[in-house]
Parts: sequence; C-alpha cells; structure tokens
Amino acid sequence: MTDGEAQLIEAARERLGPRAVVTDPHEIEPWVTDWRGRVHGAAPALLAPGSTEEVAEIVRLAAEHRVPLVPQGGNTGMAAGATPPADGSALLLSMRRMNRVRSLSADSRLAVAEAGVILATLHEAAHEIGMRFPLTLGARGSCTIGGLTSTNAGGTQVLKFGTMRSLVAGVEAVLPDGSVHNGLSGLKKDNRGYSLDQLLIGAEGTLGVITAVALRLVPAVAARAVAWAGVDSPERALDLLRFLETRTSAVEGFELVPEDSLQLVLKHVPDTRPPLGAEYDWHVLIEATTSDSQHDVGAELEELLGAALDQKIIEDAVLAANESQAEALWKLRDTISEAERAEGQTLAHDISVPVAQMPRFILDASAEVERRFPGVIASGFGHLGDGNIHFHVRAAGHAAPDWYEREGEDITRFVDDLVTAAGGSISAEHGIGQLKRAEFARLAPPGRIHALRAIKHALDPLGIMNPGKLVP
Ligand SMILES: Cc1cc2nc3c(=O)[nH]c(=O)nc-3n(C[C@H](O)[C@H](O)[C@H](O)COP(=O)(O)OP(=O)(O)OC[C@H]3O[C@@H](n4cnc5c(N)ncnc54)[C@H](O)[C@@H]3O)c2cc1C
Repeated sequence: MTDGEAQLIEAARERLGPRAVVTDPHEIEPWVTDWRGRVHGAAPALLAPGSTEEVAEIVRLAAEHRVPLVPQGGNTGMAAGATPPADGSALLLSMRRMNRVRSLSADSRLAVAEAGVILATLHEAAHEIGMRFPLTLGARGSCTIGGLTSTNAGGTQVLKFGTMRSLVAGVEAVLPDGSVHNGLSGLKKDNRGYSLDQLLIGAEGTLGVITAVALRLVPAVAARAVAWAGVDSPERALDLLRFLETRTSAVEGFELVPEDSLQLVLKHVPDTRPPLGAEYDWHVLIEATTSDSQHDVGAELEELLGAALDQKIIEDAVLAANESQAEALWKLRDTISEAERAEGQTLAHDISVPVAQMPRFILDASAEVERRFPGVIASGFGHLGDGNIHFHVRAAGHAAPDWYEREGEDITRFVDDLVTAAGGSISAEHGIGQLKRAEFARLAPPGRIHALRAIKHALDPLGIMNPGKLVP
C-alpha cells in the first residue's frame, strides 16, 4: 500500500465512517477479478460511498493524495474496465450502496435512479407505475445504472429505442476535481455548448463518477408477439427486417442466428427443441410489442410473416402461441454463448459495421477467417438490425488442441482488421476497458485518439479516474 493510499483510507474512515471503507481482503476479493475471470487485479481498499456528497469527498481526497480510483457497479462489464490494476496502485470505488430510485413519473416519463440501482430493480419500479425502461440484457439482475451509462450499453431493444445514449436524459456526476455536475433536470432542449452528460456516457469511469441518472421511460408493454423464421442468407434476413419496418413500427427485437449456433444450443442446452420443421442456413428471432391493449400485435405479425413467405423472403416461420413458447424461442437465442462454452473455447468479438453491409460482412469475414486459420469455424449472431453481431470463432474438429492460446491473438487482430477495413467498430456494445485498449490504439484514427487524450487530460489532469482504461 502506498503512503497516499494509507492516508486516504484513514481520512475517508474518519470523515465517512467505517461503512464506507472496506479493507478486509476477503470482502474485497470477489470484486478484483473481471466477470469473465480473465483479468485479476488487487486493491488495498474498497470505498463504498452512500451519497453524492460522500463520492465528492472521496474524489477530493483522491486528488489530494494522488490516488487513482476505479469506479465499479455490478462488475459485469465485458472489457475489464472495472478491474483494478494488479499492483494495488488504485482503490475500488463501489457505487452499489447508492441504490435508491429517487423519483419516477409516468407524466414526465422520467426516472431518476442512483448509480448503484440494479437494472432489474428499475424495471420493476417502472412496471409498478405502468411504464417501462426499454433496455434489457442478460446481466439485468446484477448490472447497475452507473455501469450501463458508463459503457453506453445496448442489449436486445436497441433497434427501437437505441442504446443508453438515447435513453439517458441527464447525468449527475462527481468530476475529477471533486465538483458536482448536475444534469438531472431532464431538459429536452439545452444548447449551452458541449454536453457533459453525453461526454460521461460511455466514458467508462475515466472522466468522473456518475452518481445518478435521469432515464427516459416508455409506456409498459400491453402485448408481445414472438416469432422464429428460417431464411437462406443474412441478406434475406435483412430484407425481412426492411419488409417489416415499412409495414409496422411494432418490431423491437430482431436477432440473427446461424444454423450451426442453433445446432450447438440443441446439442448442449436442456429442454430446447428445433423451432421449425426443417433445417435452414440462417434464422431470425423477431419480437413485436405494443403498448395499446386494442392492438392485436400477434395477428399483425402473423399476417406480415405470411406475406413475407409468399414473397419468398423467408422459407418458413412459426409464431409463439403463448408466453411459454415465446420464452422457449428466446432461450434458443439467449443460450448460444452457453452452448458454445459447453462445446469448447470461443473467441468472441463484439463488432459493428454499417447495417447495409453486415450480411456481406458476415459471409466474407467468416470465409476469410476460416481460410486464413484452417481448423476454426467463424460465424456471427445477434443484433443484425443494429449492424452489431457477436462474431465468434471456435475450433472445428480438426483444430490443434492449443489453437486458442497459439492463434487467439492473431485471429482477433485479423478480425479487427477486417472490421476496420469495412468502416466498422471493434467494440459495438462492450466498451474498450483494458481488454481492447491495445487494439483500439493500433486501429483508431490518430485524430480520434488525440481528441480522447485531450479531453481526458483537460478534465482529469492528475489522472486519478480509472487510469489504464479506454484512453490509449
Ligand atoms: C450475461 C451478460 C450479458 C450481457 N449482455 C450485454 C448486452 O447485451 N449488451 C451490452 O451492452 N452489454 C452486455 N453485457 C455487459 C455488461 O452488462 C454491461 O457492460 C453493463 O453496462 C456493465 O454494468 P456494471 O454495473 O456491471 O458495470 P461495471 O462492470 O462495474 O463497470 C463497467 C465500466 O463502467 C465504469 N463504471 C461503473 N459504474 C460507474 C459509475 N457510477 N461512474 C463512472 N464509471 C462507472 C467502470 O469503471 C467500468 O469501466 C452483458 C454482461 C453479462 C455478464
């Protein structure tokens, strides 16, 4: 422990009380490794403030003693952005005690939630007033509003509602000098220059500590319809999306699934059944919703899929007859990563390219990876309508047993080069954190890196906010 850390810990204990300062290694231990278990860090203390004022006090102490802080929410991030460095040179700043939903209003369609509020808790609170926060993802039971905002998270409803960037109406945050930015008024229009709120979204804790967020709500879902369709190519899948979008605004989920991913799910995940009577090369899961109880969204989707079948856009389709069938269809999509893990090691790439180019990209990039690295299988699944897929590479039967260790890095660089050449992003949803920082530095245009560094230095000249993350 450095002298600065020891002094900060003592001062924090004195000013904030013992509850806000944890130094027992057993209590800290679960929080110093990233969710995927790939990066192991260390921290001599975990600071757990209970209010915005306490966060400001801690940040002021960190500046005074030159001690870096690593903000952390649910620690479910995919890029190890909330994992402290291994040398113990930073303190963890856990936001989980700040877990109050400060206000919720159906009239203003806004909720103000503190940074440590768990996403599922916000969903429940919104539901109670007949509203919905329209962003969800697999980690909803653990991830926090502060983490979601700091990573500009996406999920399965981005097609209709956008990422966190579209859903955040304002941010309250403690800036690196200990001052508090209050953007919670929820103004629809505010043109007083640079938007600090937008700057803090996706900043991964490098520009300040988010303490509360004003979030946009929409009316609760009155009914949903879930369908599964077989198509012969990703191009046809995108044709189907365009066909549906010109005829209805009800589609909010549209997920692409290749046949080999479906086969892995059927092989490894209990209680799963083929959704259609025959095998197709590609599949699409569609969810349509309505907040109008008079709108028969199931009948509408059925009719549209019938027309798509007549026009030979799709090969076959099935509409879930009830909620349990709808859940069974979603399970086929949601358990792809789990099924891949059961099959063997997988290299995951969360990438985006312009939507119109995605079908071609999936086919070409898979073929190029398989040609360049014989013995692997590459494929993409996920949010086709957002131009964002999980491009996964795994071993075919004839890959060398140590392919992952030997070739993993080269494969990732090869994939990232293909993505960059296609004008895409090597991180669509998950952020840069520490895991993608080297690749970001290698591939980002110099102007972008210059701007990031300049912003970081202007707001955090002492470098106390999550150093070693995001900014190359
Ligand atoms: C099963 C599973 C499914 C997932 N699915 C998706 C998905 O579909 N789409 C998607 O986008 N992500 C997905 N994720 C990733 C993850 O849930 C998101 O990145 C989430 O936003 C992280 O929230 P968290 O509270 O766990 O943040 P953490 O992991 O604790 O932190 C993430 C980053 O935010 C910073 N941070 C956290 N809180 C604050 C704060 N209050 N102020 C400033 N900085 C802060 C941290 O320093 C770190 O850089 C998934 C994760 C899992 C485990």
